[in-house]
Amino acid sequence: MTDHAPLDRSRLAALHARELGAFRAARPRSAALAEQARAHLPGGVPMSWMVKWPGDFPVFVDRAQGAHFTCVDGIDHIDLCLGDTGAMMGHSPGPTVEAVLAQLARGITTMLPTEDAIAVSTELSERFGLPYWQFTLTATDANRHAIRYARHLTGRRKVVVHDYCYHGSVDETFATLDAAGRTTSRRNNIGPPVDPSETTHVVEFNDVDGLERALAEGDVAAILVEPALTNIGIVLPHAGYHAAVRELATSHGALLINDETHTICAGPGGVTRAEDLHPDFLVIGKSIGGGIPCGTFGFTAEVADRIARSVDLEDIDVGGIGGTLAGNGLSMAAMRATLEQVMTQDAFDHMVPLAQAWADGVQAGIDSVAAPWHVTRLGARAEYNFSAEPPRNGREAHDADDFELQQYLHLYALNRGILLTPFHNMALMSPSTTRGDVDAHTVMFDECLRELFSRP
Ligand code: PMP
Repeated sequence: MTDHAPLDRSRLAALHARELGAFRAARPRSAALAEQARAHLPGGVPMSWMVKWPGDFPVFVDRAQGAHFTCVDGIDHIDLCLGDTGAMMGHSPGPTVEAVLAQLARGITTMLPTEDAIAVSTELSERFGLPYWQFTLTATDANRHAIRYARHLTGRRKVVVHDYCYHGSVDETFATLDAAGRTTSRRNNIGPPVDPSETTHVVEFNDVDGLERALAEGDVAAILVEPALTNIGIVLPHAGYHAAVRELATSHGALLINDETHTICAGPGGVTRAEDLHPDFLVIGKSIGGGIPCGTFGFTAEVADRIARSVDLEDIDVGGIGGTLAGNGLSMAAMRATLEQVMTQDAFDHMVPLAQAWADGVQAGIDSVAAPWHVTRLGARAEYNFSAEPPRNGREAHDADDFELQQYLHLYALNRGILLTPFHNMALMSPSTTRGDVDAHTVMFDECLRELFSRP
């Protein structure tokens, strides 16, 4: 990384040590719980990547409501992470809680449909323009199922993904491009079933020629696309990119899957609706259940027809698609309430200007110290990145990353009661986020950068 304003690494290390001390001092209860947790939770956490949060133990949550949470040490936090989109509609939104409580008392899961399934699929069809829907418990599973169907329908084995994409723990997606432009396993890919080059072609985001070369191999079942990359910072599509992807998918007989799990931040119908895209499948999870586990994939009438004609009823339960709890009554009630009453255009009309205000505040902080960084926004989500220009693809975004610096910035924010999305520098707005929450971040960020870069 090159800095216009020089970044003094020893100063960064000293400041980081100071912040670690402050973190420990302010959170004795979290520290004690983390210690206790280590007895049966490796690293003291229920999921391994939670050890990657800044600080030397995770913050244990007491309760969360709206855009805030309170930790077990009684500290109130502005939550700009929002469960990495799982709580994009705010923690425990009222209509969702009400519907879930009612359903809890009426049966949680039966392996039979409830009437809510009709309302949810109707609502999803209107939002995203795809007529048919099936349900899972996670976006990961929805992606897996869409890929399986694509393989089944095309008789081909490979999936195209973008370099440095993230679509959940989907085997085919843990691939990257090596220096020679070949598809290879992503660093620290844990226990891949086969070498990802057997299942996957990786192409750069915004690289139409690269995509065409991959498709020309004739073995591509599906192109799995996040309409803007959001898991390696935000990388926006260039004008015409999605139209080219659609055209190439059609001309090469590959099925196009739009994963809107994060890009739903662009509006009630995600980027797909905002930019009038026409995928064969659409995947979404996390936020549409207001935090209750859910996932879904939608598809065209043509896909539905091809599936109906080629899948035998007798083996439907063991064909690799499904899940015992998928489509359960509780998830359905949560999705119905969240979609109909919480994730509305009005909500986005509140969230998107706040994300713009957040981005403006961050940009002002960056400008005041002349750091060669920039801010990117997609609807209700915004992110700063340690490069002067917006990255054009995942590789550029990845190469601009600075783990040490990032951990410091997150810890500094956390010590002042602000939680950013971990693993990059992202903020998400919810219907409950206020202008005061955003301004608190702006003030904190400005002070942080002035100290880091030794500016008065
Ligand atoms: N798709 C995208 C674009 C995601 O960002 C994620 C998770 N961050 C997933 C799918 C997987 O979601 P889950 O972990 O809930 O299965």
